[in-house]
Amino acid sequence: ATPMSVMVGVGRGAKEGVLIKNAEVLETMEKVDTIVVDKTGTLTQGEPQVTKLESFNGFDVDEMLGLSAAVENQSEHPLAKAVVRRATNDGVSLAEATEFESVTGLGVAATVGQRRVKIGRPEYIAASDSPSLDQAKGQAAEHQAAGSTVVFVAVDDQVAGMLVISDPIKASTPSALKALQHLGLRVVMLTGDAEATAAAVAGALGIDEYHAGVSPEDKHGFVVKLREQGHVVAMAGDGINDAPALAVADVGIAMGTGAGVAMESAGITLIGGDLRGIASAEALSRKTMKNIR
Ligand code: ADP
Ligand code: MG
Repeated sequence: ATPMSVMVGVGRGAKEGVLIKNAEVLETMEKVDTIVVDKTGTLTQGEPQVTKLESFNGFDVDEMLGLSAAVENQSEHPLAKAVVRRATNDGVSLAEATEFESVTGLGVAATVGQRRVKIGRPEYIAASDSPSLDQAKGQAAEHQAAGSTVVFVAVDDQVAGMLVISDPIKASTPSALKALQHLGLRVVMLTGDAEATAAAVAGALGIDEYHAGVSPEDKHGFVVKLREQGHVVAMAGDGINDAPALAVADVGIAMGTGAGVAMESAGITLIGGDLRGIASAEALSRKTMKNIR
């Protein structure tokens, strides 16, 4: 039978916007020593905006944006929505895209008119020894150092442009991380984004441990490995590209703002995606378990 104080604890969490699935989750939280967090949509707001467009090889900027948005119109990714929104705001019309392809954690491609358009990470859109890709990557560096995500565009295997996309850190994130560190918990950030962008975001938040360029399978594998090493792991994510990792953690923590499937399988859901709820749940768990003993 579940002790009364555990049920009281679960109820108290709910009042603070921390939905704890059951007594077992509250009990497990006490043993957690490592918090793994996804970047996009978890530490950040998850509503990215295109802040800068750059075209290469003589491509017209609006043409490059129009082709990109035509492809991204078929994608559910938050970055894709940012590109489509920018095209709409700039009055650029979208052509029909066919033969859509999506490679998780790398990018998307489609045929627009007669042309094959690819958008995403540099290694996805073009051969790595292309001089114009090297030039684009060079120009991307300063934006990545400021914490922005840069996606690259190729049209018929020619580097056509780059889109600088910014996704601000949630206002509540810095204090949420401080509270976790204060509780003595190890915090690790995982992201599919580029190393330079990850370094900038982690640096701004005082996160010493992070891994960039990580695929959804790698995120899952990382959590599995921590558990094999004897760690008790809570993983916080928005369910977009991190659902397998959330599912395998001792406690999966879903953002109330994220994917519905993630919330269904999660042990904890944070209303409004407020990460301060993780420290609240941890403190509540420690207090509750102390009362029982
Ligand atoms: P995160 O871990 O930050 O949520 P993802 O795994 O979703 O990142 O994506 C990793 C990278 O793959 C993105 O930073 C981007 O460069 C590229 N990418 C993935 N999907 C798309 C898309 N629809 N449009 C453009 N780039 C994409
Ligand atoms: Mg994500």
